[in-house]
Amino acid sequence: MVIRIQTLLLSGCLFGLVACNQPQVTMLTPQQITLLSDSQIEQLSAQNCAKQDQYEVMTSRSHVFQKRLDRLTKQWPNTVNGKTLNYRVYLKTQPNAWASFNGCVRLTSGLMNLLTDDEIQAVIVHEIGHIALNHTLAAFRQAKSAEIHSNGTITLIMPQALSLQQEFAADAYAVRVLQYQQRDPYALITMLNKLDRHQQQASSSHPNTAARKTNLLKKIMR
Ligand SMILES: [Zn+2]
Repeated sequence: MVIRIQTLLLSGCLFGLVACNQPQVTMLTPQQITLLSDSQIEQLSAQNCAKQDQYEVMTSRSHVFQKRLDRLTKQWPNTVNGKTLNYRVYLKTQPNAWASFNGCVRLTSGLMNLLTDDEIQAVIVHEIGHIALNHTLAAFRQAKSAEIHSNGTITLIMPQALSLQQEFAADAYAVRVLQYQQRDPYALITMLNKLDRHQQQASSSHPNTAARKTNLLKKIMR
């Protein structure tokens, strides 16, 4: 995975960082971003999701990965903050997951291959947390600039501290929900351990996971 420091796709994502290699980019300045209303940001978010769906290889509704995800998401709410959630799987070896402001939740087949059902549930609740906590809006409001790529996807250039803060908040949300549902919150930690091992094998690293695990342990033990 290509990791771009201080970037976040128009979504909350498991790694908080997403590879975008499209060569043609239009930049929006902070002043231009400030003029966007909440509903315009939601529209951009929906457009970004639709473009990403076209760009990636999505499984069919009857695919084994999609059926597994459908089974695992059955118990979670259909709407969050008035946004209808829709869960889909991309056929992609790189493990990743993200959610967007308009209700898109996307997991890769590489992630689903790596994780147990409990760990996937933990990922799903973490991603719901990004939507419930309006992280995309906050990311836009604090963005240094935004890149609109030639394929229609959008990358926000935002402070790295905000990205980590949003990961902590989504993790804390997930711990609260999993504990309330009497599910195992440690699945969040075993999930991050597996991602760490995968990243090491891929000769890459993700500095956020160690901090996230420390923060998660504090929340769980509280
Ligand atoms: Zn996240």
